Amino acid sequence: MINSSRHTENNSVAENIARINENIMNACYKSGRSFSDVSLMAVTKTVDEKYINQAYDCGIRLFGENRVQEFLDKRGNYKYSSENIHFIGHLQTNKVKYIIDKVNMIESVDSVKLAAEISKQVSKSGIDMFDILIEVNIGEEESKSGINPAEIRQLADFIAGTGNLRLRGLMAIPPVGRSDYFFAKMKQLFVDIKDKNVDNSIMDVLSMGMSGDYVSAIENGATLVRIGSAIFGKRK
Ligand SMILES: *Cc1c(COP(=O)(O)O)cnc(C)c1O
Repeated sequence: MINSSRHTENNSVAENIARINENIMNACYKSGRSFSDVSLMAVTKTVDEKYINQAYDCGIRLFGENRVQEFLDKRGNYKYSSENIHFIGHLQTNKVKYIIDKVNMIESVDSVKLAAEISKQVSKSGIDMFDILIEVNIGEEESKSGINPAEIRQLADFIAGTGNLRLRGLMAIPPVGRSDYFFAKMKQLFVDIKDKNVDNSIMDVLSMGMSGDYVSAIENGATLVRIGSAIFGKRK
């Protein structure tokens, strides 16, 4: 069930997006970066399609999906299609086939097993090359998905060997309250992998920063921030 009452009446989606864009601009200015280097993604979990489409009308061109079933239920009502959508949630291998031709990137690849299944479904769907990010469990927390930093290289090499997956970068959700420290660590890991020039990789996306910490993420090099509640209001 999609709960539509969570939208806060006095803060419209348009106002929220305008404010966030201003904050992004200031963070870019402060860190000597260009505003066009940072993509603002709207994270749609639990949000009614009406408000999601409002975000599209306000210029948002990237949307993040967490849950396969919810995505499949809602996508028919979206004003945009697969090219504007990334999958960002934990993904079970048996569900890859339902989303592979409906998203433009999977940001939450955290195992060889999942990468292998994505590669298999990509070739079944007749797609030449599919973009992915490796999700890193940067705080090495038991409760979180993502692979540990020490295993990134091995997964990156496996991805390179598939021939139809293109590694575009890294994604992370840092431990609550300590994001500054972990964003800086992510930037370092990102640069390390980029410097290794893994085959078939481009490494131009560092996806980190959410409603509570996106300014700090940008100051630490994020190229994509994933924002839900600051755009759509608090989730129940
Ligand atoms: C929910 C979610 C977000 C957005 O979180 P907010 O705090 O609401 O901005 C970002 N990334 C992922 C992976 C999420 O699941």
